[in-house]
Amino acid sequence: MQTAQHVLSQSETIEIFKTFDTTEHENLVFCYDKPTGLKALIGIHNTVLGSALGGTRFYNYANEADAITDVLRLSRGMTYKAAISGINLGGGKAVIIGDPEKLKSEAFWRRYGKFVESLNGKYITAEDVNTNSQDMEYISLQTKHVAGKPEHLGGGGDPSPVTAYGVYLGIKASVKAVYGNDSLNEKKILVEGIGSVGSHLVERLAAEGAKVFITDINQFKIKTLTAKFPTVEAVKRETSHDLDVDIYAPCAMGATVNSNSISRLKCHIIAGAANNQLEHEEQHGNMLKEKRILYAPDFLINAGGVINCYQEVVGYNREQSFYRTEKIYDRTLEIFQKAKDENISTHKAAVKLAEERIQSIALIKTKK
Ligand code: NAD
Repeated sequence: MQTAQHVLSQSETIEIFKTFDTTEHENLVFCYDKPTGLKALIGIHNTVLGSALGGTRFYNYANEADAITDVLRLSRGMTYKAAISGINLGGGKAVIIGDPEKLKSEAFWRRYGKFVESLNGKYITAEDVNTNSQDMEYISLQTKHVAGKPEHLGGGGDPSPVTAYGVYLGIKASVKAVYGNDSLNEKKILVEGIGSVGSHLVERLAAEGAKVFITDINQFKIKTLTAKFPTVEAVKRETSHDLDVDIYAPCAMGATVNSNSISRLKCHIIAGAANNQLEHEEQHGNMLKEKRILYAPDFLINAGGVINCYQEVVGYNREQSFYRTEKIYDRTLEIFQKAKDENISTHKAAVKLAEERIQSIALIKTKK
């Protein structure tokens, strides 16, 4: 299994086709428009299960190799996320290179929308880092292949409550696997990052009587949340990984589960919303297994957002989004069992299950 994190780096020659050989991507589309300054890359990893859906990330990448690495890594992750969630979508992602503050305009987004349209539905875009529902609204003027639209346009609106619900269920399933029942009462939980998803998650955890610790770089958000939930306690970021907690829920950045943090963590469970939590999938997945820390694979338990987008593609219904997201609980337990039976890391078990689904559907597609 090729690790998703390291596909290309700045110092390496960009050998796209050699990379595709290991990552098994279908397409990488370069989009350029001089008048608007648009520089976008659309990565389509796998479309066996359906159109490749994934958000558009807008980021001032240091160089083009970093942008290519990101789009390949993220689009591949989307394939697994959709496959494990049982939805009929493939994996894709787009990145736009540049400063969002300077470049965003109606014309910019409509030009980008035309590029998305030119792929005839092979790729469906949505929100991601530095893109929002207003941007999706502009894109939707040029293409119907866009999800994450505002509710007044028939879209699903903010996906974070759905994502938080899935993460909450992933945490409960993990607690059941470790402690025998899934009660969160008095469980000590560190939530790192209390943004859109983290704040909704904290609310659910506190309502079940968990002792919640929070940390964030944004002090205003900390003050607001602790004022709203007096039992929630703020902790310092620098020492948060040393805390004596039962569960660590990464809900900010990726790669926070690494050799350094694993050597410090005292928890029994890692389950959170952040994408790509393991710095190196194989190495750190195995380290957690050896240390008997149960890891709920991120792409499984944070799939509520993509499930919400999928609902938008098939006809939006908020209740259906929550219903489909509910399956995360059983699926998490199924993966833990598979990992145990095959003596592999939970991350690897989740990847295998996703790959098995794709392979089995690919087979029936070839039959008349
Ligand atoms: P967000 O930007 O609303 O929140 C992120 C929070 O993390 C912010 O409050 C930010 O101040 C904080 N933060 C940033 N760096 C930090 C650090 N080093 N230490 C502690 N806190 C830090 O984002 P979000 O939508 O809540 O998403 C959170 C994570 O979940 C991201 O990794 C995202 O990719 C992933 N995710 C989100 C969704 C969704 O529906 N929004 C779906 C799937 C995955």
